[in-house]
Amino acid sequence: MANEKARLFVAFSLDVDPDSNRAVRGRIDSLSPPPEEGRARIDLAHRGLIETLRLLERLNIPASLFFEARTAQMLAEREPDLNALTSLHEIGCHSHRHEDFVGTATGIPINRAQAKDIIRESLQILDGIFSRKITGFRAPYLRTNHDLLSLLGEMGFTYDSSVISDCIRPFYMKRASLWELALASLRADSGRRVISYLHPVFEGKRDVKEYVWAIGSTAHKIKGGLFIIAFHPWELFATPSGRLLSAEDSRKRVDVVANVLQGLKATPELKFIRLDQYTAHCQDILHDEQGRSRYPQIHEIRV
Ligand SMILES: [Zn+2]
Repeated sequence: MANEKARLFVAFSLDVDPDSNRAVRGRIDSLSPPPEEGRARIDLAHRGLIETLRLLERLNIPASLFFEARTAQMLAEREPDLNALTSLHEIGCHSHRHEDFVGTATGIPINRAQAKDIIRESLQILDGIFSRKITGFRAPYLRTNHDLLSLLGEMGFTYDSSVISDCIRPFYMKRASLWELALASLRADSGRRVISYLHPVFEGKRDVKEYVWAIGSTAHKIKGGLFIIAFHPWELFATPSGRLLSAEDSRKRVDVVANVLQGLKATPELKFIRLDQYTAHCQDILHDEQGRSRYPQIHEIRV
């Protein structure tokens, strides 16, 4: 391993998508509230992204940014330097218009050929803006299925990060030829549940110190495991239902992100890593020097 001291890797990820967007029955794309207006807005996503990028620069933390292609396009019109602003970070794909590939909320399941077109178009748009190799995918609403995962492998993605699991080690999906870098939902030593997404901390259901401690306390369990943190940039300014936060509440959320990141950075057993860089470690994590599996019982799941 690159850093023998690190027992657990931490990845900071953003789902960069329209403000408080949600699926709408009968439509493939997601919309910002109110849905009657039929629009996807990015004012708050824009402000939140810039605020978060400044913070990451100040703390010198690399991140994995999953861009919805439509949002990236709108952001690039407002921020001609979007590519330079994100140059230290990984660019991942979060679909084109936040499609619900499974069709749970839209009532429109997307078949494999349609999914392929949507993802190919997303990659073309992201390539036009960032010109960087994209190896990771996060499904909108974290809704995925076997078909989508195997399509991602077929299209050359190295990993997916859409599955929620209580296991903080990577899974290799042999049939899909794809790593799953799962989002966490696990019970900490305190007995309380800790998840990758920051909203329970934003909403005061978890305190920053408890969250940081809970992640640190999992470090001794799996050497080289991975805990992913995630949120949406617009969450710094609005609720998922679209209610705008007061300036004071927004400032508190920015402080939450800063304090979580600083707390994790100060924890000696943890090391920040981008997800694309982590996949380079996956083989080391799963196999010993002789190439034998360290975790034979679950080192792969079939898809
Ligand atoms: Zn999303």
